Parts: sequence; C-alpha cells; structure tokens
Amino acid sequence: MKLLFDEMLKNLASWFRILGIDSAFSSGKSDSQLLHLAMKEGRTLVTRDFPLTIRCEKHGVRFVFIKSDLIEEQIAQVLRETGIKPVFPNFTRCASCNGELADAPKEGLAAGGKVPQNTLEHHERFWRCKTCGKIFWEGGHWKNITRIYEKALELAAG
Ligand SMILES: [Zn+2]
Repeated sequence: MKLLFDEMLKNLASWFRILGIDSAFSSGKSDSQLLHLAMKEGRTLVTRDFPLTIRCEKHGVRFVFIKSDLIEEQIAQVLRETGIKPVFPNFTRCASCNGELADAPKEGLAAGGKVPQNTLEHHERFWRCKTCGKIFWEGGHWKNITRIYEKALELAAG
C-alpha cells in the first residue's frame, strides 16, 4: 500500500511515514499531475479536494476523501478506508522526506554533533534517514504522538 497526499495534508503524510507507510507528499502540483502520479506509482490519493475525487473515480484511482480537521480523525479515516494495519512506531520511513531509515549506532552519533549530548545519554536507539540524513529517536514529544495515535486507533475501531 502506497499513499499520495495533496498539499493540504502534509502533517497527515508525516504521520503515515511514522507508521512505516510509503507516503508521498506533493505541493504545487495540479490535479492532473497528482492523478498522473497516483496512477504511475500505484498510490492511493489522500485528498481534501472533492472535485479531484470525482476525477479519481473516473480514472479508477483509489482515494480517501478527508473530511475532518482533526488529525486523529484523519488518521482513523485513512486506516479504516485503506485497511492499513499499522505497527507503531515503525521507524522505517523518515517523517520529513519519506526516505528509508537505518539503525544509527550510538557510538557514531557522538562525534557527529547532530544529536545533543543529553539526548545521547538518555536514549538507546537512533535511526538515520538514508536520504536526508536526519536523526530520529523517541524524543520528548513522543508522549503526545502516542496519545494522538491511540485516540486514532479507538476512532478507527469504532
Ligand atoms: Zn529524510
């Protein structure tokens, strides 16, 4: 399952990357370009643009038409309608660029200066994006992310 998000859904695209789903995000593309990309790469188009969903139907492109403004409801809707069964956190995709993540040994990070010393001391596992080089770990914001995710799961089940 691969997804493509329109430019109003950047935050939602990041979420599905955290869930390990190949999630492309496009800004500044016309509806035709989005449709073409979805067809070419076999992606389900996630959009807030109703006229675009009509064109998807016409061309046989699978889509999810997002209605809510709340992130937990948006996540729940995509999970319900695509049948994606996420593993959270998956740590296989970069939330920034959709690149693949690899384990980053702690020893190598100390010298790089990309991770604060305090963070290195308090965390064991780190990941590095193979594409943009960004380093990830379960940081302080993680509690908040977990809370939103659990709410989304509840909504998806209900
Ligand atoms: Zn990246």
